[in-house]
Amino acid sequence: PSLSLVDPTLLRTQCLIDGSWRDADGGAVCTVHNPASGARLGTVPDMGATETTRAIEAAQAALPAWAALTAKQRAHILRKMHDLMLQHQDDLARLMTAEQGKPLAEARGEIAYSAAFLEWFAEEGKRLYGDVIPAHASDKRILVLRQPIGVVAAITPWNFPSAMLGRKIGPALAAGCTVVCKPALQTPYSALAIAELAMRAGMPRGVLNIVTGQDAAAIGETMTSHPAVRKISFTGSTGVGKRLLAQCAPGMKRVSLELGGNAPFIVFEDADLDAAVAGAMASKYRNSGQTCVCANRLFVHADVYDAFAEKLMAAVSALRVGDGLAGPTEQGPLIDEKAMLKVEQHVADACAKGARVAMGGRRHALGGMFYEPTVLLDASVDMLVAQEETFGPVAPLIRFDSEQQVIAMANATEAGLAGYFYTRDLGRCWRVTEALECGIVGVNTGLISTEVAPFGGIKQSGFGREGSKYGLHDYTEIKYACIGGI
Ligand code: ADP
Repeated sequence: PSLSLVDPTLLRTQCLIDGSWRDADGGAVCTVHNPASGARLGTVPDMGATETTRAIEAAQAALPAWAALTAKQRAHILRKMHDLMLQHQDDLARLMTAEQGKPLAEARGEIAYSAAFLEWFAEEGKRLYGDVIPAHASDKRILVLRQPIGVVAAITPWNFPSAMLGRKIGPALAAGCTVVCKPALQTPYSALAIAELAMRAGMPRGVLNIVTGQDAAAIGETMTSHPAVRKISFTGSTGVGKRLLAQCAPGMKRVSLELGGNAPFIVFEDADLDAAVAGAMASKYRNSGQTCVCANRLFVHADVYDAFAEKLMAAVSALRVGDGLAGPTEQGPLIDEKAMLKVEQHVADACAKGARVAMGGRRHALGGMFYEPTVLLDASVDMLVAQEETFGPVAPLIRFDSEQQVIAMANATEAGLAGYFYTRDLGRCWRVTEALECGIVGVNTGLISTEVAPFGGIKQSGFGREGSKYGLHDYTEIKYACIGGI
């Protein structure tokens, strides 16, 4: 199926630096493919350290004027970007499905979600209040201001190519920061389309810059070492996050890291099983299991294990697998061969350690990057599926017998992003919410992402929060002024 965009100029194949569309210095390009078909979609510039430095310096030059605007003036542009994104929602969704593979309905949802961060932070930017603190001496007054942190470098992954950008640039731009973004090479077009809409919305040159290239390490190195960059915001793998954090230490840059999870999804014996299945479907199989808040380990109480498994399998068997541009689907392909090999390794390891494949468990007949939606029974905590993020459509069901036992198992991981549980006992709702070692808890729901709430992890899932007033604060510095001689 062809892209057939209503507005073909949303497919930008150059990078936006200092308000103009540019090629890499030597003209080198990288090729972008559709993971559903393997077809070549087009190219983007293969930029490196030189072009990244140029983008950072453009952002540095644009900073004073952007920071000096009123919050309302900045909000006006962000709001316009939001409106343009919704106006072009179908085209942006087609572009995303083509480069990322997710079902078209999910892509449409992601565009709305991404735009929502621009709208919400445009409004919240107006409420970036300071403080007047009762002073410690009668001839003094204490003021607290919040100021934009400065130039922000944002590095985003391929699983949510629009939303991960929206939730970094929304708060950064609203707070008065300027930004250089590096999208993942698998999915650059969603980011470049946002940049195109930013230009149409009247974004001043240099305020938002996008750099693409295959040498992520060189681009990251430039971002973390340039003295003008005051903050790095990264969403991606834990390994790269740790590396960026270390690289930021010498320059003392602020860092927000949203890294891998290993979410427990707990079904207690008193759960509404139909609701739990609906939540598990949303949490586990969305984006073919390729989200950092996907249920990774499904703990099911022994009393309801068989009943839950049966209902889950009925729901999984109804999933339509295929190319999102070719017809209605609920499951797209995995992003690439590396992702496929990890899923295969996890399933093989689970089987070798005694799990039973109840559904799926192999590459899909469609070929390419398609994997069958999978349910594994009799899984246990010693399997790779329980120890690492599978990042694929595989649900391992682990039995448990008591609340205490399942909390211990759920917390036995270095990741701490999301956790979910289903129960109808109010006391247990509180106890388990407080006991789970993670930044986000879904109680009787599998869907927790919204721009109005603080998204982020603890332990090795990173730090910093995205969304809500906390997300805006992450892009500001506090300045305290002591006014004497009054
Ligand atoms: P994944 O393995 O899921 O692709 P990554 O953490 O490798 O996750 O990718 C997330 C983002 O980080 C992408 O934009 C990728 O290009 C970028 N990236 C990868 N390695 C580095 C690095 N050394 N420095 C900076 N960014 C990097």
